[in-house]
Formats: sequence, C-alpha cells, structure tokens
Amino acid sequence: MHNLYHAFQSKVDRGPVEKTIQTHCCYCSMQCAINNLVDVSTEQIIGVQGRKDFPVTFGRLCQKGITAHEHVRHKDRLVTPLIRRNGKLSPCSWDEALDEISSRIQKIQHRNGYDAVGVYGGGSLTNEKAYLLGKFARVALRTRNIDYNGRYCMSSAAAAMNKAFGLDRGLTFPLEDIPDAMCILIVGSNLAEC
Ligand code: SF4
Repeated sequence: MHNLYHAFQSKVDRGPVEKTIQTHCCYCSMQCAINNLVDVSTEQIIGVQGRKDFPVTFGRLCQKGITAHEHVRHKDRLVTPLIRRNGKLSPCSWDEALDEISSRIQKIQHRNGYDAVGVYGGGSLTNEKAYLLGKFARVALRTRNIDYNGRYCMSSAAAAMNKAFGLDRGLTFPLEDIPDAMCILIVGSNLAEC
C-alpha cells in the first residue's frame, strides 16, 4: 500500500502552522480526510496533512490530494465571476453574475420549456449539497434533467461490479489487504497514471 499512496503531509510552504482544520479532500469521491494547515497570521492554508484516523487510507494522500492547497493561492485562480461582454470576459460582482444567470435561464426556459436547462452535480458533493441541488433542479428550475459526473466514470463500472460481485463500489476489499495479495487484477484503470 505504501507505493499506492504518496505521503502523509505536503511540503509546508511557510510557517509556522498554528491551526489545523479538519476536512476532506475535495477532488474525488474517496473523500480522504485531511487537515488543512493554516498560518493564523495570514489565515492562509499553507499545507495539507492526511488524517490517520481515516479508515480507508490511514492518512495517506495521493498526488492530487497532497497538492490540493496549492490551487487556493495560485495566481491564475479566479476570485471573482466573469461575464462575457462583446466577446470579452470581464470581472463583475456576484449580484451581477447571478442576475445574468437567472435572466438567461428564464429566457431559455420561456423559449424552449423547463427541461431545456439541466443541472450537473459531482461525486464530491456532500449529501446535503446533493439534496439541495436536487431541490434546486426540481423545485426552482422545474427541470427533470439532473445528473452528475459519475454517469460517465462510474455507472458502467458499478453495473459491472454488481453483475460480477453483487456490490456497486470501487473496491470489494479494504486497501490494507493489498500488501498480502499474491496477485491483483485491475480492470479499466490506468493505475500508473492515476
Ligand atoms: S487524496 Fe486522492 S484519492 Fe483521496 S480524495 Fe483526494 S484525490 Fe481522491
């Protein structure tokens, strides 16, 4: 297992770390538990640390999780909405952006019906957010079109897993079994890249 997962803690960019905030990695639906390491003098995240009490990976994080905090301060990170005007994107306030979105959705639905607008969620949403997204789609937008990224990446795998093993999840065994295995068969995954 130590070869599958990279590390327990990212390089801390600058210190000292004076606060840790418990959360989960936002990238994939493994949702590995992490501590955000925060420099309280600037209230900025300066690193992440895997949590050893997480029963799936025992504190280890993959390459994406261990570098997750770097996006927060990246110079190209969008920190304000952009509206395209005359072919050019320009910054605007959230009120402006939401008014624009609302007005365009209304125009599309007026012209083409409620189902002309769809909602797309993601596997990393919490249960509460997924519930709210469903309510937003069905009650606010009145569309029946709601889906999530797993339609492409997991649905076919889940169907195959159900047929083969009677379980629709990524692994049929705990990761800690891997070091004891004499042979591992991996199907549909480019493990070297992933
Ligand atoms: S650390 Fe890697 S495996 Fe864990 S949730 Fe993040 S992206 Fe997924």
